[in-house]
Amino acid sequence: MTVTTERRVPNLDSLYTINPDGSHRKIHPADVKGRFQRRKKILWGILIAIYLVVPWVKIGGNPAILIDIGRRQFFLLGNTYNAQDFYLAFFFVTGLAFSLYVISSLWGRLWCGYACPHTVFLEGVFRRIERWIEGSAGQRERLAKSGWGFEKVWRRGLKWAIYLGLSLILSHTFLSYFMPVEKVFEATVSPPSHNPTAFTFILVFTAIIYFNFTWFREQLCIVICPYGRLQSVLYDEHTVNVGYDRTRGEPRKHYKETDRGACIDCFRCVSVCPTGIDIRNGTQLECVGCANCVDACDDVMDKIGQPRGLIRYDSQAGFHGLKRRLLRPRTALYGVLLVIGLVVFLVMASGRTAFEARVLRVKGVPYTLDGDVVTNVYSLHLVNKLPHRAEFRIAQKPGSPVQLVIPAPAVTLDPFGAQRIPIIGRIQRAALKPGAKIEVTVVTGETHREIEEVFLGPN
Ligand code: SF4
Ligand code: SF4
Repeated sequence: MTVTTERRVPNLDSLYTINPDGSHRKIHPADVKGRFQRRKKILWGILIAIYLVVPWVKIGGNPAILIDIGRRQFFLLGNTYNAQDFYLAFFFVTGLAFSLYVISSLWGRLWCGYACPHTVFLEGVFRRIERWIEGSAGQRERLAKSGWGFEKVWRRGLKWAIYLGLSLILSHTFLSYFMPVEKVFEATVSPPSHNPTAFTFILVFTAIIYFNFTWFREQLCIVICPYGRLQSVLYDEHTVNVGYDRTRGEPRKHYKETDRGACIDCFRCVSVCPTGIDIRNGTQLECVGCANCVDACDDVMDKIGQPRGLIRYDSQAGFHGLKRRLLRPRTALYGVLLVIGLVVFLVMASGRTAFEARVLRVKGVPYTLDGDVVTNVYSLHLVNKLPHRAEFRIAQKPGSPVQLVIPAPAVTLDPFGAQRIPIIGRIQRAALKPGAKIEVTVVTGETHREIEEVFLGPN
């Protein structure tokens, strides 16, 4: 068997990617082919296409997904939200978190290995370009160790130039989720002083993306990502992860020896690992569940005529020959919390109206007495949450004893526009009863709301 990179002495007390002096040890994972690689390639192609295309997609003339923080407007698949709907984000984010908990407790780091944007772009784009320019793992390692001659300068220069271009594309696309894509384009072709915020955003994010994919790489998963750190509390013995079948594999020996297990100690699984670990040492924090070692070992098993699956997706129970349980207390609990969050989100989201209307008492004296007439002054705060101009008709609710004077009974508001409309309430002092209130109706299109506010008077 061919070993493409240096053999690594396992040191379980420190990260493989950190040298004894604390510096970053660059990893050059070997190429691998196999069924999981094919699935990942297809999935990553789809995910990258979605990421790049979504900012350009419109639904009903509005962006399909846009979190316009500057104007406090949010668009999600044809629905529009404003700052007053921000509480929905809590249910949305907790729903996502519990979905991840359910997935993690069932299938470990499936998200990390297959769908995390960091993995998708690092393995699906940046690493491929590196392989294309600098060659195989062995060639890359030699290039890294060589001095700065002509070959290293042009190969590194070309790679870094392409990385910079890609980082710019990714940061502009990322900005398009927070600013309409037309404005991003406009900001790109105009001087930085015209759009200083967008320019700074692009500058910072391009630098972060470039730094991450050029140098930091797997350190993000190992050192920074909180989800990776959470894994150990989400797992149990029935969680499916990438693992090594020790019972079948040991004692590991050269393939020519006879009294050995299935592992021929070829180190192929280690050489393809993007975080540099040896999965034969057991489940480790650094493992992102990418299945490179599964494909690599399956290939080795095919070559030596052994059944596949020495490294495979299985639970700890499965590796010990026990039956795996899908439904456990933790999966049931996470599932119930997910369903509760989802139901609350859907109920809240479906209950939101096309506009916000609140009647507030204006500052100053609570009421005035003019002869026998008691007067209260209010302000109706109206917010159009629709993505188009809309007319709002404001009126007194029929039968209400307090007479209302509404100087602007019909107002037209721009998309997400807001206006304060004064309302004056009057009633004869003799007719004023305890618990009196004003009752206002606001109508736009098919949507109708009634608002009440206390009416104050003497005694
Ligand atoms: S687990 Fe498989 S790939 Fe890894 S060293 Fe053993 S035989 Fe080789
Ligand atoms: S141990 Fe295997 S699954 Fe885990 S990161 Fe390395 S190659 Fe991927």
